[in-house]
Amino acid sequence: MVDLRSDTVTKPDDAMREAALDADVGDDVYGEDPTVNELEARAADLVGFEDALYVPSGTMGNQIAVRTHTDRGQEVMVERESHVYKWELGGLAQLSDLQVRTLDGGERGVPTPEQVREGYVEEDLHRPGTGLLTLENTHNSKGGIAIDPAKIDAAAETARDLGVPVHLDGARVMNAAVAHDVSPERVTENVDSVMFCLSKGLGAPVGSILAGSEEFIDRARRTRKLFGGGMRQAGIIAGPGLLALDNVERLEDDHENARVLAEQLASVEGLSVQDPETNIVLVNTEDAGLDAEEFLDACEAVGVRGTQFDTHVARFCTHWNVTREDVEDAAEKVAEVVADAR
Ligand SMILES: *Cc1c(COP(=O)(O)O)cnc(C)c1O
Repeated sequence: MVDLRSDTVTKPDDAMREAALDADVGDDVYGEDPTVNELEARAADLVGFEDALYVPSGTMGNQIAVRTHTDRGQEVMVERESHVYKWELGGLAQLSDLQVRTLDGGERGVPTPEQVREGYVEEDLHRPGTGLLTLENTHNSKGGIAIDPAKIDAAAETARDLGVPVHLDGARVMNAAVAHDVSPERVTENVDSVMFCLSKGLGAPVGSILAGSEEFIDRARRTRKLFGGGMRQAGIIAGPGLLALDNVERLEDDHENARVLAEQLASVEGLSVQDPETNIVLVNTEDAGLDAEEFLDACEAVGVRGTQFDTHVARFCTHWNVTREDVEDAAEKVAEVVADAR
């Protein structure tokens, strides 16, 4: 089976398992886990922030950030296809009592400065005021596109000029940095906080990072406790997380494998394939006479897994545990599936 459902399916290698075994631990809720402390310090450094917080998942990291930045009843501006809005169970309402204002980020999934200005609501007797802008890079629903740091800067600077803080959902921000051949710090330069996942392309078994100013992270630590994310001897999982920080450059292999996969699938009659910018390949199956569900069931039967993204769109995601041979093999099998359906 070539499992291309997500880069979250990666399994820790021997070095990560040993790091778990050997981790120096303490009670992290008391701030006494040396491995977690080292991970937070190194992770903050990597994205150019004063401090960072280790959290169990990307979703929790985003939701902690949102809650920490905002006050109950405010508006939050989100991109209409963004993960924090679409795929986190309405947490903005459920966990932070916010009203959502969606902005259409268009093809690149990032709102323009004009859209941010238009979406902004000034607090007065009748209006709740805008408490936060969230952005996403890479943009998952748009097919893992690596947004140009200058576009993030433009939206973020506009919001900050209006007094609105900016949170970046950077679950795959390292993929964006690698794709643009810039430091992660450059991508996050103009936002107030960033969340990134250790458990996706970087290969850690568990965990994400929320980074920001020291003052913000102090408050976020209390929100993490509120959301039930205070962990005790978390060095056991933070140890592998430290090794994950060394895997940033390796993401280029995933991007290359995605390009190979996309090229081969694009040559299959009936499939149309979006040019990948990182490790995600979106395939439209409509001209093959299949909807995404039928297509994926047929793929599964020949040993290739993907996920459904839309009625006629399937997603394949390359990662640490698939090789060049695996993606070439997968592409051949998918080609047969499509040929058989015709
Ligand atoms: C995966 C993902 C998340 C959430 O991470 P989990 O660890 O799965 O909770 C958030 N945002 C984006 C863009 C993602 O791709």
